[in-house]
Amino acid sequence: MLKHNLGYPRIGNKRELKKACESYWTNNIDLNTLIKVGEKIRKENWILQKSSGLDLIQCNDFSFYDHVLDMSLLLGVIPDSYLEISIIKNHFDLYFSMARGFQKNEWDIKAMEMTKWFNTNYHYIVPEFKKDQKFYIYSNKIFNELEELKFLLKDIEKVKPILIGPITYLFLGKEKDKFFNRIDLIDNILPTYIEIINKLKNRGIYWIQLDEPILSLDLSEKYKSIFQYAYNKLSEKCSGISILLATYFDGISENISVLKNIKIKAIHIDLVEDINQLDIVIDFVIKSDITLSLGIVDGKNIWKNDYYKSIKIIEKTIKSIGEDNVMLAPSCSLLHVPIDVENEINIHTDIKNRIAFAKQKINELNDLEKIVKGNKKILSENYFLMKKIKNKSSSYNEKIKEISDKKENLKRKNVFKYRQEKQKIKFNLPIFPTTTIGSFPQTKEIRSIRNKFRNKKISKKNYIKKIQEFIVNVINIQEDIGLDVLVHGEFERTDMVEYFSDKLNGIVPTDNGWVQSYGSRCVRPPIIYGDVSRKGDMTIEWMTFAKSKTNKFIKGMLTGPVTILQWSFVRNDQPVHETAFQIAWAIREEVLSLENSGIRIIQIDEPALREGLPLKKKNWKKYFNWSIKAFHISSSGVKDDTQIHTHMCYSQFNDILKYIADLDADVITIETYRSGMDLLKAFSEFSYPNEIGPGVYDIHSPRIPTVKEIFELIKKATLLIPIKNIWINPDCGLKTRNWDEVLKSLKNMTKAAKLARKNTYN
Ligand code: GLN
Ligand code: ZN
Repeated sequence: MLKHNLGYPRIGNKRELKKACESYWTNNIDLNTLIKVGEKIRKENWILQKSSGLDLIQCNDFSFYDHVLDMSLLLGVIPDSYLEISIIKNHFDLYFSMARGFQKNEWDIKAMEMTKWFNTNYHYIVPEFKKDQKFYIYSNKIFNELEELKFLLKDIEKVKPILIGPITYLFLGKEKDKFFNRIDLIDNILPTYIEIINKLKNRGIYWIQLDEPILSLDLSEKYKSIFQYAYNKLSEKCSGISILLATYFDGISENISVLKNIKIKAIHIDLVEDINQLDIVIDFVIKSDITLSLGIVDGKNIWKNDYYKSIKIIEKTIKSIGEDNVMLAPSCSLLHVPIDVENEINIHTDIKNRIAFAKQKINELNDLEKIVKGNKKILSENYFLMKKIKNKSSSYNEKIKEISDKKENLKRKNVFKYRQEKQKIKFNLPIFPTTTIGSFPQTKEIRSIRNKFRNKKISKKNYIKKIQEFIVNVINIQEDIGLDVLVHGEFERTDMVEYFSDKLNGIVPTDNGWVQSYGSRCVRPPIIYGDVSRKGDMTIEWMTFAKSKTNKFIKGMLTGPVTILQWSFVRNDQPVHETAFQIAWAIREEVLSLENSGIRIIQIDEPALREGLPLKKKNWKKYFNWSIKAFHISSSGVKDDTQIHTHMCYSQFNDILKYIADLDADVITIETYRSGMDLLKAFSEFSYPNEIGPGVYDIHSPRIPTVKEIFELIKKATLLIPIKNIWINPDCGLKTRNWDEVLKSLKNMTKAAKLARKNTYN
């Protein structure tokens, strides 16, 4: 029973990679130093995994920025604009310019697009394909890492390089030219894959892992047939090497027929996401005489494995196919969990005893093997721990269920049309009202003050005074610019989830639970370990202070229940919807408290609503049932003339508009700048009934939008949605921009709105 891993976190135990990359980008260390940091992290990871008992050790799971971008470099998929930068002298700078853009001398090349990796909060760089895309081995990274690992292990049979499989790689990209489909590039790409695999084989490799997570999506017939075609060819041309096909993030039952007659050595499945696929897959592997890798330790969440449950699955599989044909692994790459529980100092031991990060998860595989071999002690210790956890749930859910099942707790008192009339009278805003999404630039000074307060270096009183100064300042600025609905700027928040988790029972932050989000950016998701409830007011103090400083309307800022849930590690001892409803109820209490304090415009941000969407369409309905209900619980308690806003910052709405409309927010603000309002067409065709603030400037870029271009965008919007429903705002919050950019951009935005008003009146 071989134990193996699908990928280990690469940021380093103390986020060394982040620090090294950022220092390299700002010219504070040289390339050699950066390379050395990479080597050190890889070596540490390998040694650790080996000493934790893994039988196969993977390579090429390390990355300086993103493993999809690594694939693009390996396959020579590099847009010309980057290759043309003549002052770039090495692969590293080329690689980083693709990831981050390049601005120097006469060069000003944008970064490549980035998007979410399936349903996780990891982001990858989207490969760009031309119609006649050529593929060739460009980067030697994988071969170099292989040599390093070979040298370390002295046993090549234990080395398992990982590649993203050809079908998933093509699927993840986008066409740069019109009139072709990237999947038709299959005959161009396969020879390069074959060459790479054979080169690895010639270096003595026995195993290779090809990741094809798209097997857990709804695949079109075309993709299915090309999958079969490609893998037949691969196995034919790469004989003598054992392909482990890795699938994860959902089950593959629906696509299992695709694998028929394909010569692979092993298939990996994610049993954490879908246990129901097991029988079908066992049946398949028996017939095709291949090895089954059981993804049994949760690669996306941090709870300790329930050994009793796992052992039942493992034993059942062994019984069907024999121990030699079973492999053990985490469900997916451990990229999505923090590195080591031992780095946590402040988490209560009760919780600490219940969690496993990457390092501990590798040990869990070892434990499971020992149990299979007869170790009863490990099993019984784990059994009692699990029992203790399960006994912990309270009657709180009953209460939440009771109140959240009441219709009147789920619906606004009146329909939107009626509310809109009342709100128009109450707020008396001009047409094309202007507002922002909430945050304003987070300067070094603000960060340092928050840090000092956290480390008890300034008193609470002084901290409050300081934040209040920032609020007064941002209110004055917004009044000067002439915005209609003001915000308080979110200066007290490091992060929109962490801030709230700190103010809720049942959630704890971690000290060092960093997870890579993209490139050098890491996030620290809090842990939802118990029943969530509001400790007390969470935002009222800041909001009422802001309100007292202006005669204009202040928009209260809250993070929605689905986003809090999605960007945390969620307890797994009850269904997620129950946790979602608990959070929703806490947010509802805050909404009502804001309303009571005279804040009559309240935004509930749900930027993660789409990310939580299941990979398979058949599961969407269930997801939306609870996620929309959670939003309703949060938002529906207010009066008709209290205005609920929500915000979502991505641009794929077409297939979920029906559900977005069901949320029934009075106003939704969205990201539309980059698509030049094209996205609004979907809202128009759908006759989306409520108010919309389509983003009129891209906050991800330092560029200042001109009055003219914003005005044109507004004009475009008026052709698609009724004027009375249009708001004017940026794409998203302004926290990552600097003040100079923000001031100029917002001034142009309000000028454009004024111009639009004038033009409409005439
Ligand atoms: N209100 C948040 C902000 O302005 C929203 C952030 C987001 O959409 N991710 O920063
Ligand atoms: Zn946003």
